[in-house]
Amino acid sequence: MYIILFGAPGVGKGTQAKLISQKYNIPQISTGDMLREAIRQRTELGKKAEAIIARGELVSDDIMLGLISERISQPDCKNGFILDGFPRTIAQAEGLEKLFKEKKLPQPICIEIVVPENVIIKRLTSRRICEKCGAIFDPVVNPIPPDNKCAKCGGRIVQREDDNEETIHKRLQVYHEQTAPVRDYYRKVDKFYTIDGNRPIEQVLKEIEDILTSVFQQA
Ligand code: AMP
Repeated sequence: MYIILFGAPGVGKGTQAKLISQKYNIPQISTGDMLREAIRQRTELGKKAEAIIARGELVSDDIMLGLISERISQPDCKNGFILDGFPRTIAQAEGLEKLFKEKKLPQPICIEIVVPENVIIKRLTSRRICEKCGAIFDPVVNPIPPDNKCAKCGGRIVQREDDNEETIHKRLQVYHEQTAPVRDYYRKVDKFYTIDGNRPIEQVLKEIEDILTSVFQQA
């Protein structure tokens, strides 16, 4: 099962990708999480990415394609994976298609999640994450525990540096300019679906599960 979750920042890709990953036992590949981990570990990649992420811009296609190529070659990806936050440019989509061809993988299912922009801004400004495992906290659906520690791993719960209003606007601008055109790239193929993400998490998840079931029944 090869899935691409597509959509603007804050539509719920990370939340849904985690749930799908658990349900179908395939890894969630979040390029944002990978870059944040590299920053925490102070690797060369982390040093390069830190300022770019803080500005709300995109890390270069070459770097991202290298990262994805390495990640999807890992043994845990042999039965599939779910991409969250990749591809974000046409060049990344083209590079990914090439990698799929080289590895003789089946065409991925692309699911776009759509949420109105005013809701996205509200969600992102109030979002907090565990700095260790990336778990997502939200005042309404998953409130922060009183001790400010992640119940799963004990990590500190923090606000992402790029979840401030100025950077959020920049990220949305970058999304419209560089990432939205990728939608047309995938719309041309038959396994493209658009769903409404402005609903409770379980309802969005159910729709994704229904799509996956129908695709695999057809296969
Ligand atoms: P995310 O956690 O998906 O919102 O990503 C956080 C930030 O990481 C983005 O604003 C970009 O700066 C960077 N990033 C994540 N994925 C990509 C990608 N596929 N291409 C370029 N930059 C990325």
